[in-house]
Amino acid sequence: MTQKHQQQIRRSQDLLPERKTESQRKKTRMAGDLYALDFDGVLCDSCGESSLSAVKAAKIRWPSLFDGVDSSLEEWIVDQMHILRPVVETGYENLLLVRLLLELQMPSIRKSSVADGLTIEAILNNWSQLKPIIMKEWNEDRDALIDLFGRVRDNWMQTDLSGWIGANRFYPGTGDALRFASSQVYIVTTKQSRFADALLRELAGVTIPSEKIYGLGTGPKVEVLKKLQAMPEHEGLTLHFVEDRLATLKNVIKEPALDRWNLYLGRWGYNTEKEREEAQSFSRIHMLDLPDFCKKLK
Ligand SMILES: [Mg+2]
Repeated sequence: MTQKHQQQIRRSQDLLPERKTESQRKKTRMAGDLYALDFDGVLCDSCGESSLSAVKAAKIRWPSLFDGVDSSLEEWIVDQMHILRPVVETGYENLLLVRLLLELQMPSIRKSSVADGLTIEAILNNWSQLKPIIMKEWNEDRDALIDLFGRVRDNWMQTDLSGWIGANRFYPGTGDALRFASSQVYIVTTKQSRFADALLRELAGVTIPSEKIYGLGTGPKVEVLKKLQAMPEHEGLTLHFVEDRLATLKNVIKEPALDRWNLYLGRWGYNTEKEREEAQSFSRIHMLDLPDFCKKLK
């Protein structure tokens, strides 16, 4: 090897980028993640609370329908609500489900034929078609129901805070994962922000700044994700969105502008076996188990 060659090799070695240690690499990578997290069905199991709130609200909205409804029928309704939970996108729909379940059991209170021949299975499979029909047949207004549902929860919180909080639970490990998260964490939920905030504080012992909680009224989730990715301070971060509702992830996939998001369907949340199977046919969607989710956040 000539001296010239040796000089060339030495020079090219000098140009090699400094090699990072494994811990440095990990640090860079961990600092570079942003997680947008759904709340209900990802962090918090609120099904007991939302079903009980819905029964309370339904009694206010349609008092006469509850004449002759005993506690065992109410319990049956709350039980069925756990099965139907995967169809609920926004809280007020729980009220509609409560009334529909009541009509299934008590044909005499039906004001329309919508509940005739209906089964739990059929509600589970056709909710998106059923919902606009019953809203029209029952002459209901979405905003009024959202408002009523919010007021019933507020009232429950004000009169019996520990009872209200106790009707919710965080999925095991999620509280610690949030507390020790090294990534940027945002909550993107259709729940009203003040409820998510109260539960995070009281049950998980975590305070997430209000500007990092996008709740009901902040626009569809796809728009929130666009907003998050456009923020200058998020430039260069790897983006992750964790949801338990397949329909929401499908909406994200439809948006070419959201191509950069890594999408996850949490198996532990409110989705059906059928939806989990369907999710696996989308290459964009990663199936996630609860322990892996908690590890990822930390
Ligand atoms: Mg959810």
